[in-house]
Amino acid sequence: MSQSATAIYVHIPFCSRKCGYCDFNTYSGYKDGTKARYVEALCREIEAAGDGSQIQTIFFGGGTPTNLAASELTRILTTLRSHFLIAADAEISLEANPSDADRGYLEALRQAGFTRISFGVQTFNDRLLKLIDREHSGEAARRAIEQARAAGFDNVSLDLMFGLPRQTVGDFERTLDTALALEIPHLSIYGLIVEEGTPFFARRERGKLPLPPESAEATMFGKALEKTREAGLTRYEISNYARSGYACRHNRVYWRNEPYFGLGAGATGYLNGARRVNIRRPSEYIEAALVGKELAITQETEILTQEETMGETMMLGLRLAEGIALDDFAERFGVRAEAHWAQTIATLTTQGLLERTPTHLRLTDPKGLFLASEAMAKFI
Ligand code: SF4
Repeated sequence: MSQSATAIYVHIPFCSRKCGYCDFNTYSGYKDGTKARYVEALCREIEAAGDGSQIQTIFFGGGTPTNLAASELTRILTTLRSHFLIAADAEISLEANPSDADRGYLEALRQAGFTRISFGVQTFNDRLLKLIDREHSGEAARRAIEQARAAGFDNVSLDLMFGLPRQTVGDFERTLDTALALEIPHLSIYGLIVEEGTPFFARRERGKLPLPPESAEATMFGKALEKTREAGLTRYEISNYARSGYACRHNRVYWRNEPYFGLGAGATGYLNGARRVNIRRPSEYIEAALVGKELAITQETEILTQEETMGETMMLGLRLAEGIALDDFAERFGVRAEAHWAQTIATLTTQGLLERTPTHLRLTDPKGLFLASEAMAKFI
């Protein structure tokens, strides 16, 4: 059954400098003139993609969207409004760097219609922030949150990380305590993954990345579960915790494997059963979007078979604490997941990783959620 897309992802591929652990499609050192041309190119893509679809969520990610001027972000949003039907109560999020959180800037974004802001804080510890190449301080992050609230953002999220070089369990606990004392309604808490091709990867190869031992990392993860629960946040996805009413609506679209538009350099869109990835490098994307009559910005297209789509739907859906809604799955694919993967489900259930509720299939808490990657991989 073909579904229509209700979500839009917009990629802003600029950062003021690149963090040592980052493998996202983002670049530092681009001049303001090039960024302005990028905004032009993006607006051209929006005009071409806009089909009047009814949109419930928009997410500006990166990179660092706040690396652009408020007027540029506003222009992108205005162009989206002209070419799609954005719901009056749409969730419109942007990722932000705490260093960019000036009150006037944030007020302009709020006025433009952004409803949710997600700060890449990672830790409130200044020593660790330096070690991971972040520009802001813990104090700047606190101020940014204050400024965002004063500017009218009540829907604030923080990204926090554990397993950082030289991070102790005590360091991580203090960061969690600070975030929870600030009564942040949404936290994304990730363990550091050292990706191939990053400076951190090269340092680890040379034995120069002092990561905490695995046992400390597991304790940090346990602290995240314990402290968020005590503070009244619900873990609604493997790495995401929210107060009631603050779960990220946009990310749910990905976890339910529903279609979405992906706009901007290197953005992935998923429409009509095909995954389409745009040209990654901003300079090449700009060239392809602005030069020539045809918009030739697609770098890769992958058409997914029903079997692949079903496997991905299982894998992504199991990230959610509620799991997979079995009747919805059957209605979407004409196949019952319980029958299609009977053997896999039986094995994972016996191992204590999966469980069935009257309506859903989900990972067990905590064992299944802790070994999620292992369990999810069995479906693809
Ligand atoms: S700010 Fe975020 S996107 Fe930019 S380099 Fe650092 S981790 Fe990557």
